[in-house]
Amino acid sequence: MPARCIEIEGIVQGVGFRPFVYHLARHLGITGDVANTGSGVIIHAQGDKTQLGQFVQRLKDDAPPLAHIAKITALEIPFRATTDFTIIASAGGHERSALISPDVAVCGDCLDEMNNPADRRYAHPFINCTNCGPRYTIIADLPYDRTQTTMAGFAMCSDCRKEYSNPTDRRFHAQPIACPVCGPRVALLDSKRQPVEATDAISAARRLLVQGHILAVKGLGGFHLAVDAAHATAVNRLRQRKGREQEKPFALMAASVDEINRFARLTKQEIDLLQSKERPIVLIRQKKTHTISPDVAPLNRYFGVMLPYTPLHHLLLKSPVPVLVMTSANASGEPLVIDNNDAFERLKGIADFFLVHDRDILIGCDDSLVRCASPKPFFLRRARGYVPVPVFLTTKSPPTLGLGALLKNTICLTKGDRVFISQHIGDLENLGTLTFFTKTIEHLSRILEIAPEIVGFDLHPDYVSTRHANTLTYMTRVPVQHHHAHIVSCMAENHLAGPVIGLAFDGTGLGDDDTAWGGEVLIVHPETFERAAHMAYLPMPGSNSAILEPWRMGVSALIDTYGHLDSVQLPFLDAISSEKLSVVAQMVKTGLNSPLTSSIGRLFDAVAALCGLKQVINFEGQAAMLLEHAADENETGFYNYEWRNQGPIQILPGPMIAGVVGDLQNHVPVPIIAARFHNTLIRLLGDVTSQISKTTQIKQVALSGGVFQNLRLLDGMVAALSSKGLDVFTHSQVPPNDGGLCLGQAIAAAAMVTKGLAPTS
Ligand code: ZN
Ligand code: ZN
Ligand code: FE
Repeated sequence: MPARCIEIEGIVQGVGFRPFVYHLARHLGITGDVANTGSGVIIHAQGDKTQLGQFVQRLKDDAPPLAHIAKITALEIPFRATTDFTIIASAGGHERSALISPDVAVCGDCLDEMNNPADRRYAHPFINCTNCGPRYTIIADLPYDRTQTTMAGFAMCSDCRKEYSNPTDRRFHAQPIACPVCGPRVALLDSKRQPVEATDAISAARRLLVQGHILAVKGLGGFHLAVDAAHATAVNRLRQRKGREQEKPFALMAASVDEINRFARLTKQEIDLLQSKERPIVLIRQKKTHTISPDVAPLNRYFGVMLPYTPLHHLLLKSPVPVLVMTSANASGEPLVIDNNDAFERLKGIADFFLVHDRDILIGCDDSLVRCASPKPFFLRRARGYVPVPVFLTTKSPPTLGLGALLKNTICLTKGDRVFISQHIGDLENLGTLTFFTKTIEHLSRILEIAPEIVGFDLHPDYVSTRHANTLTYMTRVPVQHHHAHIVSCMAENHLAGPVIGLAFDGTGLGDDDTAWGGEVLIVHPETFERAAHMAYLPMPGSNSAILEPWRMGVSALIDTYGHLDSVQLPFLDAISSEKLSVVAQMVKTGLNSPLTSSIGRLFDAVAALCGLKQVINFEGQAAMLLEHAADENETGFYNYEWRNQGPIQILPGPMIAGVVGDLQNHVPVPIIAARFHNTLIRLLGDVTSQISKTTQIKQVALSGGVFQNLRLLDGMVAALSSKGLDVFTHSQVPPNDGGLCLGQAIAAAAMVTKGLAPTS
């Protein structure tokens, strides 16, 4: 009889994998055994050829929900006399190449028990099993064992112990196992930390929400601030107290898909994502009429919505509050609050009441944010539910740290052919996020046991991450150009060795000529790049002020097109004082405090300003977002476009801007103009890329950069490039924005060192 030694690597420990193998083997009449190893699971399997074939196939197809198989190998081995299949205790100590599961939503089986009055875990807010519950945010160290989690302080009761020890039980080795007898407890407290009198804390919390109070709720990766989404005064009060930027949308949590259907238009792809075990926030088109407070997402055509993911959420979200605003609990710009004491300190004056519990959160993890696109869904923010699942590569690199960008920072660590990307850390603009940044590097290095030898970071000398890199003198320090990193990030997750044509479109990143790049067509290898085309430079009058005030880019684009403002009659200009206008015009003409930029993000700002959509933004990327949302879906017209073949191709903004101005002067509606602008960029960049492909013979095109969060541009570019016979690659495992940058930095830095191309610092 044939025998196989099957080795499986991936997330296969602490997720019920061995019991699954055991049941599958018994079911198929396979004999042998299964054990955990340092890097995963090893199976000794014996049966006839068909049985073994089925066995290997079903190991992959039917794996438990939290398992993630990275690699499976089956070797022929000599037959051994056994008549049974057994689970063997772990073979040797756990090494740290075994992977940790992310935190995932409570499973259906647990929910059924939680809703069953006869079950011993009826209404228990901490119910979980090997298929669900907290992981990453409660693990202090490996091996993944209860004593190394924040459940260490909760001694199992005898009933839980029985389940935990039984290989056929759904809670076999479920480290966070708990029940009403032995598990954590919730408490409802007021802002003075006094308990609120109530027989049931959760129903009492719901009543407070109905009354319009702001509730801080301790979740899986941190605290949320919750208010009733239909309660306009409460939503407004939350915005005021939190210091939330005007018009910046709040996320919603809705009890069910049916509830979401009342206020948003769902597609099948979106429903699947909402219900996935990762439970991200999904951007969904708003319905025209609904009862959600207008202050939740002003000027926005989308809502960010998620379904409940902890048992506590399920118990809280019920009539009469089936939809809550659930925004991460922090003052604007600071990292998430995760600790009870910290919550009462930092949320003082914001939250009226606190729904807390005594299971500690070890490391903060925000909600993930995802948008559906026609190729595949992509991340705007990658965190809870996905971290720390690595990006798997096809090649190995030396252990490398990627430090990310200034905004939307994430960091990553590579180990062999895996890249572990941290949860969203945030904008590195204050002490709080900086502390979270260093803590995350330290935490991930420890639990993954990675000692990086190389560090990749941005070229920008003033980034906090660059300053941090400069302290890591024991590593080989490799600065990586921002847009090079963007494209290498997209190549890495798509397993492309290069060369590729990379379209890197974003707000800004420092170029190697000291200007602010952001509309780049690059020929990219992991270790090098060459600039093949870019948007022609426009001055940014006032530097950073030009980012915050799109009207300045509007003026800059007009002067670029016409040489002056004299003949241009546009309503947006009337709204600006003539004094301000002449100062800014003068700055553009003389170049005073007006760094040059090739950014497409800034071009979007300029057009949004010309169209009168936004003159001063309230949050990053708002003007570009409004232009995307404004665009008419059926309009197919476009403007003239032009580029100059000289060294790198220079794409001229002038003809497009003239088209926009002409339409505005002819009173063409803004949605038509916004659509034509998008259409022009898509055709233009399709043509430029096609020309570059013909001269270089490169057929693979990678799209990256924050501008590709724009769905119309993303879907349009993919269609345009594909129709020209090019192979288009986009992001689906890390965000296209700067949240995915660290991956490219690490891979590019490692490639430069390996090929001897790293600059010596
Ligand atoms: Zn479960
Ligand atoms: Zn118990
Ligand atoms: Fe960027």
